[in-house]
Amino acid sequence: MSKLSVLLWIDDEFHSQQPDAIDTSIGDKYLMAMNPIFARMRRCTLDLGGRFSSEANPQWMDYQSAALFCLGEILHHGVIPYIPNGDTLRRIICRTPTVQVSDGLLLEIVRKNVVLHESAHFCCDRLLARVSGPSRDKADFVVRCLIAESFANLIEFTASAFADYKIHRLFFAMNSYVLTSSTTVSILRTLILTVGFRQVLTLGMLTYLFLNAHDIEVGSDFTDKVIERVLHKQRLSIAETQIARLLVETGFTLSYKFRAETTPLFFSLYDSMDEYRAFGKTFTNPFDLEIEVISMIDALVDSVFPHANEPELMRALEDKTQN
Ligand SMILES: [Zn+2]
Repeated sequence: MSKLSVLLWIDDEFHSQQPDAIDTSIGDKYLMAMNPIFARMRRCTLDLGGRFSSEANPQWMDYQSAALFCLGEILHHGVIPYIPNGDTLRRIICRTPTVQVSDGLLLEIVRKNVVLHESAHFCCDRLLARVSGPSRDKADFVVRCLIAESFANLIEFTASAFADYKIHRLFFAMNSYVLTSSTTVSILRTLILTVGFRQVLTLGMLTYLFLNAHDIEVGSDFTDKVIERVLHKQRLSIAETQIARLLVETGFTLSYKFRAETTPLFFSLYDSMDEYRAFGKTFTNPFDLEIEVISMIDALVDSVFPHANEPELMRALEDKTQN
């Protein structure tokens, strides 16, 4: 059980250090200070002209009612909606200062914000437009949407590797669709420390792209090929290859319902079902991908993670591994 007042106090401790934090979203200040991927996506979003709003205009209300239908609006306006759930909790504490709640119940009864996920969509949209121009046709639109969703999945997954302490995991869960299990986080950290940050990001992008393009799981054939494509220069030992396989097959996962129902619904909204199905049919292994798709993925990852091996992120990860 945690005292709500203590949770808010911990978050507020980082107030003065984090001018770009969303002050009224619970956990945002803490995550900006303690989670380098969360902070990087915020800087990237603001640098690309995005902003965050809790103003209850029609766009914001549509998002609260049915977020899936609103991605186009977010990308068009560059405004990412959030709810001021921190203010709500503050008012509750004013009335009942000693209220305590378990982490599990808090996650159920307080609406979360997913600005990290939406920021990844926004950044991907703007960065791909910068490197490849506007979408040419429906097939190009579908590829970009699938890359963006994969990037958002990957960003949330990777950011969770930095969520080590209990409070970090709680705040992260209140601000993300996913909270990766500690076993998966340790597999992810081990592979990053073995082959490097950049390689794991590319491995994740290609695996999530496959998952987003199909409603089947990745099979051992895909796993072999994606490891060969991304990590062939790494001369992995059998044990290291096994860790990479574990990450591809059990770490980078997406719910079946999302892939089988939500994604097709999304593309049907944009009259792009044929192009979506066609992409899935041609993409059975990562060597099938057209060079242009690989170039877009590389350009996207390079823009957000521009430093070879990302020494700042690797240092932060090693610190956490030693703790
Ligand atoms: Zn998404």
